[in-house]
Amino acid sequence: MKTFQLYIDGRFEPGEARFDSINPATGLAWANMPEARANDTNRAVKAAYNALSNPKWTDLSASARGKLLYRLGELITEHAPYLADLETNDTGKIIRETQSQITYIAEYYKYFAGLADKIEGRIVPIDKKDMDASIRNEPIGVVAAIVPWNSQLFLSAVKLAPALAAGCTIVLKASEQAPAPLLAFARLVHEAGFPPGVVNIITGFGHECGQVLTSHPLVARVAFTGGPETARHVVRNTAENFAHLTLELGGKSPVIVFPDADIESAANAVIASIFAASGQSCVVGSRLLIHNDIYEELLKRITEKTQKIVVGPPSDPDTEMGPLATLDQRTKIEHVIAASIDAGARLVIGGAIPDDMPKHGNYYQPTILDCRGVDAPVVTEELFGPVLAVSAFNDEADAIRQANATRFGLASGVFTRDIGRASRMVKQIHAGIVWVNTYRAIAPSMPFGGFGDTGYGREGGISSIQDYIRTKSVWVYTSDEPISDPFVMR
Ligand code: NAP
Repeated sequence: MKTFQLYIDGRFEPGEARFDSINPATGLAWANMPEARANDTNRAVKAAYNALSNPKWTDLSASARGKLLYRLGELITEHAPYLADLETNDTGKIIRETQSQITYIAEYYKYFAGLADKIEGRIVPIDKKDMDASIRNEPIGVVAAIVPWNSQLFLSAVKLAPALAAGCTIVLKASEQAPAPLLAFARLVHEAGFPPGVVNIITGFGHECGQVLTSHPLVARVAFTGGPETARHVVRNTAENFAHLTLELGGKSPVIVFPDADIESAANAVIASIFAASGQSCVVGSRLLIHNDIYEELLKRITEKTQKIVVGPPSDPDTEMGPLATLDQRTKIEHVIAASIDAGARLVIGGAIPDDMPKHGNYYQPTILDCRGVDAPVVTEELFGPVLAVSAFNDEADAIRQANATRFGLASGVFTRDIGRASRMVKQIHAGIVWVNTYRAIAPSMPFGGFGDTGYGREGGISSIQDYIRTKSVWVYTSDEPISDPFVMR
């Protein structure tokens, strides 16, 4: 069995406790993991705090910080196949997806490497005699980054890369559900040459490690990705340390298809939106809204494509859909599907465990439910699985009404050839991301995040670096004359 270690203050350590990680494709333990409890977590935060005043980090020029980040990006590219194998084993995500995603993650480090020496202060014109005023930008301090098990190298890149570019130090907590890729990534951080304590990578259970981390008095900023219920704990925890906070939470994203769309292209995009990563993605397009005029035609085409999806072992390059990450996840999906059918939804395809898969793997069939005119839980609840709820709409206003009938607001898709219609939909959709005639596109230069219960803050893009900076207002009295009247504000 493989073994992994924590990375604290530049050293690899076994952790206060150990646990086994389960391969979701087999249901068997495949690796032994360290568990950071309160003591390890405290030590990691202390190491990050001390690194903030270590000249090996603070004396580095901004461009030298950028070069370290760039080197880290190169190392990710070099080791992408290894990291992809680990992620596939630990999460059940298919190897096709992990390989291409990890290769692209290197671009995030390279993008923010280029921004490190572009964080400029400014001189402020001021209407006071003999006074210079300026604004300095400084790193905000220790960053606690918390990520869930899915796409964790990506979700940590959008936190680590801007934070390090800004000169912060970090404690990154991997999910205990699948920590292997991030614990292996720590080796690359070490090899890139970051001074000890600048990046600390730990894993441990949320209720102890996560709780200590997010309420720690030495933590200045928390960057959290996960579910809304956990986020409520994190918000309460940060009442202890008043840390700045961004929240990237769940979604129930709509995909809207108009009759003038390229139907074949839309059908393929719908398949990608819901069944890629077995539906375990925050941006998954789990609600499909089809115009009445093409409802039967598009549903039939999507069903035919779903029928052909190759469900299988995630390490097989031909597999298109692997298992779910956990058994709990599958159980939850089964319950919501049963409740939705009770509420009147019609099962179009799927809805069962495939019978030709390993018995202890968490496999589930790609599933479509026809929910026309039905108020079913599958239409409103985030499932984080391969389950598509399909509804019909009459016109643009009806599409917008249904699309926005969610407390979440992460992503959305609109399929139409009419540029005016696309533009009207973009303005009215309540979501942080709108994809027009495409789905699931990302880039380091584009902000990522949502509205409503999806949380607040944006990751990616130039402006995300501001989240890791604090400003200092500097006033300099330039006259040789002594201050005359101490009781008058200057
Ligand atoms: P989760 O249960 O909320 O876990 C997320 C992280 O929080 C894990 O590392 C978890 O540790 C930790 N945690 C748990 N309790 C905590 C506490 N009291 N204090 C601090 N940290 C704590 O999320 P999940 O179910 O694994 O992931 C799925 C969710 O993430 C979905 O809702 C999905 O939409 C969302 N997501 C959002 C985005 C986005 O960018 N918007 C991207 C991906 C996923 P443990 O491992 O011990 O639980």
